[in-house]
Amino acid sequence: MSQALSFHVLGAGLAGTLSAIYLARRDAAVDVYERRADPRTEQGEGGRSINLALANRGRRALAGVGLERDIEALTIPMRGRMLHEVGKAPVLQPYGKDDSEVIYSISRAGLNALLLNQADAHGVGLHFEHRTEAVDVDTGEVLLTDPAGTRVALSGRPIIAADGGGSVVRRTLGRRPGALNSEVLSSHGYKELTIPAGPDGAFRIDPNALHIWPRGGFMMIALPNLDGSFTVTLFMAMNGENSFDELTDADQVSQFFEHWFPSAVPLLPDLLHDFFANPTGELGTVRCAPWHADDKAVLIGDAAHAIVPFHGQGMNCAFEDCFELDRCLFDIEAPSLADRFAEFERRRRPNANAIADMAIENYIEMRESVRDPYFHLKKALAFELERRFPGDFVPRYSMVMFHHIPYAEAQRRGVIQQSILDELLLEHPRELPLGDIDYGHAEALIREQLADAPGLV
Ligand code: FAD
Repeated sequence: MSQALSFHVLGAGLAGTLSAIYLARRDAAVDVYERRADPRTEQGEGGRSINLALANRGRRALAGVGLERDIEALTIPMRGRMLHEVGKAPVLQPYGKDDSEVIYSISRAGLNALLLNQADAHGVGLHFEHRTEAVDVDTGEVLLTDPAGTRVALSGRPIIAADGGGSVVRRTLGRRPGALNSEVLSSHGYKELTIPAGPDGAFRIDPNALHIWPRGGFMMIALPNLDGSFTVTLFMAMNGENSFDELTDADQVSQFFEHWFPSAVPLLPDLLHDFFANPTGELGTVRCAPWHADDKAVLIGDAAHAIVPFHGQGMNCAFEDCFELDRCLFDIEAPSLADRFAEFERRRRPNANAIADMAIENYIEMRESVRDPYFHLKKALAFELERRFPGDFVPRYSMVMFHHIPYAEAQRRGVIQQSILDELLLEHPRELPLGDIDYGHAEALIREQLADAPGLV
């Protein structure tokens, strides 16, 4: 767009702040309204995930506003999954084909503060303790409550709605005739715990891995923090057998952990305190349409597509939205702002739905499949095919985490690739080591079934 614009951004979480920076760098006037107090002036919030896995999609979007160096100081590379099975030594299962393919643990609070500081530096107006109460998506009017509890009305600017999974804007849009707003709560929830740092801030377990204690129907994971601690998250059913409902007193919690996670118990000295002090978080998937109202409002991040966290892609996808919205607003030919919002939705909505599906599938992979020898055999063959046919065969996990290929395309190719792997392994013993494989047949299958795909990026 040639003329300078101005926007109201609702929500100063990860997507709202990054999007505000993108807009300000294009000389737009931007004001962000956030219901919470400025997190830079408060203690970190208990109970919320305090670190996140950052992957290539998120890193590219952060690099797009020049933050690649600043991010490095906040991250710890994780080169694979460290599997902790009962009675066995931990085993590292690499994420990528080599050491260049890693993901990064990053502090949510540190990242949010960095983005807020950058937004400040770019002249973005940040208004904390301003809760959006209602929006009129026909006129673009926003009703807020300010810190004094007074009602404030905003109008005259397009709205970027980055107000998270419970988005007021999405729910309002969803009430329009023909609109869809699906919010599906998972039957599983989560609880955060902590592995504190050892003496002199030492890590008590390998810091360069994402640790998983897979237990079939449930699992626990741990990601490293820069201070030597780990944020641990227990994911399991809300009710039924082995569920949060069953863990209501200290004895039940102790027995449960001694039984299922004996190797982790010595690492969790504050287990009982953390377990009862931290809330049990809910998880869910949001799918909606449309994502925009003419030229009045557009949804980004969790407001448009909250997903379960099992692929570590919610933030990454939200950051990719910011990257793509910037392109749609400023780098394409389009007659109007409404057309630009529509193009953004056209590019992003199928991809958000695809990563929502893959995130649900990945829960099974993390808590269950990683214990199956055939899963490891298929992974080994997938890496071997990638080595032999680079660019033509890339494991699905790698497409999602290390490439920028649209999620929907990664999902489509992933289905084909699974069937190729199964076919090639038909006569093979169902566990490692990888033996004789007919790579001529593999090449034929890849050429025949994946040839129509655009090049991987
Ligand atoms: P949010 O970060 O939720 O920000 C929304 C903001 O809007 C908040 O600041 C909120 O206070 C504000 N707001 C809400 N309502 C209003 C209102 N009415 N008025 C004003 N302001 C409002 N993603 C990854 O990529 N990797 C991971 O490893 C990962 N792990 C996760 C683990 C867990 C347990 C969970 C729950 C999520 C995880 N995610 C992960 C997902 C990630 O946290 C989200 O996708 C990401 O935070 C989305 O950013 P957002 O800005 O869209 O929403």
